[in-house]
Amino acid sequence: MSNNKYDAIVIGSGFGGSMTAYQLVRAGMRVLMLERGDWVQRGPENWGLRGSIDLTPHYDKSSPLRVVAGGNKKVMGLYSCVGGPSVFYGGVSFRFRERDFEPEKEITAGSGAEWPFRYRDLEPYYTAAENLLNISGETGVDPTEPPRGAPLPQGPAPLAGISREVKSAAEQLGLRPFQLPLAINYDDKNRNGCVQCTTCDTYACAISAKNDLSVMVLAGLIERGLTLKANTVVTRLHAEKGRIQTVECISRETGERLQFESDVVVLAAGALASPQLLLASGLQDLNPGGHVIGRYLMRHVNAIIFGIFPGQADKENRFHKQLAILDYYFGHPGTPFGKLGSLQQMPTPPRGLVQNAVPGLLGKLLSQGVPLLTGLLAIAEDQPQYDNHLRIDPDQKDRFGLPQAVISHHYSKRDLAALDVLAGEAKKILKKAGALTHYVHHIRTFSHAVGTVRMGADPATSALDEYCRFRGIDNLYVVDGSFMPTSAALNPSLTISANALRVGEKIATN
Ligand SMILES: Cc1cc2nc3c(=O)[nH]c(=O)nc-3n(C[C@H](O)[C@H](O)[C@H](O)COP(=O)(O)OP(=O)(O)OC[C@H]3O[C@@H](n4cnc5c(N)ncnc54)[C@H](O)[C@@H]3O)c2cc1C
Ligand code: SF4
Repeated sequence: MSNNKYDAIVIGSGFGGSMTAYQLVRAGMRVLMLERGDWVQRGPENWGLRGSIDLTPHYDKSSPLRVVAGGNKKVMGLYSCVGGPSVFYGGVSFRFRERDFEPEKEITAGSGAEWPFRYRDLEPYYTAAENLLNISGETGVDPTEPPRGAPLPQGPAPLAGISREVKSAAEQLGLRPFQLPLAINYDDKNRNGCVQCTTCDTYACAISAKNDLSVMVLAGLIERGLTLKANTVVTRLHAEKGRIQTVECISRETGERLQFESDVVVLAAGALASPQLLLASGLQDLNPGGHVIGRYLMRHVNAIIFGIFPGQADKENRFHKQLAILDYYFGHPGTPFGKLGSLQQMPTPPRGLVQNAVPGLLGKLLSQGVPLLTGLLAIAEDQPQYDNHLRIDPDQKDRFGLPQAVISHHYSKRDLAALDVLAGEAKKILKKAGALTHYVHHIRTFSHAVGTVRMGADPATSALDEYCRFRGIDNLYVVDGSFMPTSAALNPSLTISANALRVGEKIATN
């Protein structure tokens, strides 16, 4: 066997890639993982003024994406590092609800979106993903909670004072708040435990107490034989005779062009980079649903509703992204919606983040007011729309020769109206908790992008089959968030993980 030939190549080390690799390596396969980003070094700088992801070198601008509509920037970078954005993420690890797998017309409209399996089919893999990521949280309170085969591996951490106040306010309004499922280490005494600092979401954990993929999955896989090549950008998949024959890439360290071969290729570069790579490789022409590649881009409709309190909101200066409220997940009396979304606690932002976002004296002045804030994040489901898309511009190439990805996204009227209702409820809760007034910050990033290479039973309207196999190419699977036919209204990572474990098991037993 040549050194460049593997049983499987996995492109991308985020949730889809790591979880698929987990199954393949455990089955004894010789696996090569190619990741464009570098390892994230740990130390005090992770929690420093420039520790938030967009300010670090892991916000990778070497393959700039052009945003012609939607988004918060006209030119965007990619989140690139070993473990993908999991290293910087908020750790919120929800299972989608049973009804999310049978979305109603209110959401799917004329898009033809359908899930080819049901919640019960994914349930064992959700349990496996929760165990691998050692999720902490509270079960048995939330009315929308789906049935589970096993308890969460860790119970919840004690609530901060401000969390207790928000919880009590929500309960006085008749709601049933509960503790967020989080990928954070509280119980495992063999590792650093969480010290409840105030820089978590968007920051890497300096002491590796966040249960990110580099810590929880990849380190163990490397010990078991996984070959992980960081700083390696995949630029093309070559297909011949209905199979991917070679994967072409460039080493960022040496500039060398490399080619690898394998029996199976697993594409997990994320919902923006995967369609870009498929289109750059011309693979849409081999797939009967090729015209949908890059389309039906979803990203949730998100806003943080900050309550402005008369004094320091979080008097203990402590981590307090702890609560969720899903009472309005399946609608709200008095509104036309059968489905709205979730509310999740959002802590006081670190002062440094505000100073960096608004440079100069104004930033310094604004950051003085930051301690008065604490908030709730509203996440509403967005509709899969054909017109929301990523395409490539063959005339604009990056330094690796990849054609530029061009994104266009508009929310539907329904998307925005659903967010409005949820935001209104968040304001009521914060007022009850003592806020004098509020400030709404709309999140316009693509951090929850999904849906661009969707799965489905109909080959004419979906590029992937029920096991995420790319139709028209026998040995290619797409397992990142691209596969999702609808976005639900919950953070996507645990569902991407569970599905990747399901697909990985299938590939390993084929
Ligand atoms: C700041 C932030 C906070 C978040 N918080 C949460 C949260 O609390 N809960 C939650 O569920 N979700 C959260 N998310 C979203 C979550 O991180 C994503 O949904 C998830 O990472 C997507 O997984 P994936 O497998 O689709 O791809 P990713 O995890 O994005 O992995 C893709 C990987 O592929 C690599 N790659 C891309 N192109 C190439 C190429 N050409 N060659 C080689 N490698 C390539 C990338 O560098 C990356 O490592 C957050 C996201 C961000 C940015
Ligand atoms: S809150 Fe805990 S897990 Fe998050 S960065 Fe701080 S110490 Fe790490």
